[in-house]
Amino acid sequence: MSILKVARLGHPVLRQKCKTIDPKAITGPEIQRLIRDMFETMGEYNGVGLAAPQVHQAVRLCIAGGEADEEGRPSFRILINPEITVLSDEEDQLGMYEGCLSVPGMRGWVERPAIISVKAYNEKGQLEEFNLEGFPAVVMQHECDHLDGILYVDRIQDMTRFAYDEEASRYLDTADEHDEDEET
Ligand code: ZN
Repeated sequence: MSILKVARLGHPVLRQKCKTIDPKAITGPEIQRLIRDMFETMGEYNGVGLAAPQVHQAVRLCIAGGEADEEGRPSFRILINPEITVLSDEEDQLGMYEGCLSVPGMRGWVERPAIISVKAYNEKGQLEEFNLEGFPAVVMQHECDHLDGILYVDRIQDMTRFAYDEEASRYLDTADEHDEDEET
């Protein structure tokens, strides 16, 4: 396994529409190695999610966390060719300060639909469909945005709520946020 270099804001790989992965290739060595390396890279940087373009691979693969298993430990989903459908009403938006490993040291206030349905292949090549709400739904949307070349900074509506981490915790109301240190 290896820790991969994370692309930062300004690198064109973060702005590409990523390529669909052939479902038959999911269990092959190339994709399996990429998944392992992405897990190791995400762990190294304490991320709650990571998308393939962040490690310079413009393919539709991401890891998304924010959920917990039965024992309460953090759990992560691996998603290949994910598709999101919004289930909540237009008024039902969840806002929080988001961060991103590709925009280190900063965070910004983003509002997103609170409930979504996700359809994606897992790491075994099986097609799954499930619903998410709250924080895991936000993480999932942040990661899937990466696959279309969209960064959370594009979704900040009030730029006065975009700041460096230190200034954000000092001057912005980040108090009732999920965890202001989590980056995706
Ligand atoms: Zn990100």
